[in-house]
Amino acid sequence: MKVGILALQGAFLEHEKMLEKLGIETFEIRQKNDLKTKFDGLVFPGGESTVMNKLLHDLDLFDDILEYIKSGMPVFGTCAGLILLAKNVSGGKTCFGTMDFTVKRNAYGSQLDSFYTEERFANLENVPMTFIRAPYIETVGENVQVLSVVDGHIVAVRQNNQLVTAFHPELNDNLSVHKYFIKIIEKNKNSF
Ligand code: GLN
Repeated sequence: MKVGILALQGAFLEHEKMLEKLGIETFEIRQKNDLKTKFDGLVFPGGESTVMNKLLHDLDLFDDILEYIKSGMPVFGTCAGLILLAKNVSGGKTCFGTMDFTVKRNAYGSQLDSFYTEERFANLENVPMTFIRAPYIETVGENVQVLSVVDGHIVAVRQNNQLVTAFHPELNDNLSVHKYFIKIIEKNKNSF
């Protein structure tokens, strides 16, 4: 199994380290040529979604990556990566728009720039969650499964092979969210 990590900007190294701990091979996607590699899953890291959106277009990566996602390639987006996948972005531009939800950027405002909590993720209790200038999800479509809610706000969802978290699981030692993503990839492989 090999996972491509979008490495244009932001916290991509941390995802590489998490996946390496799970014995998963990774490679960085920085330019069109990198997409020639055969791979089984994609990670969009946290960072700045407006910058990543612009670079995806400037570097001519956008169309190819969109095709992968549309054809069912498993993808995991954290924070800014979540925003890239949202169909509607309050206070910003839609990028891939392949997940049926509306996200609010910088939703916690400047007073609560970053915070840490432990909450339920899918069927797991007490998963560490670090939020940094985080978005939250305001509304979801009917094919979207809610995996985590913090203080009444949706912060993790899944739609088929697409998984997103508003928090940064790559910034804590707990590997459970990455393991959950790997299971999506394994299931996907078995179904072909
Ligand atoms: N506020 C950033 C954005 O809108 C996301 C922050 C993050 O990824 N930590 O893109």
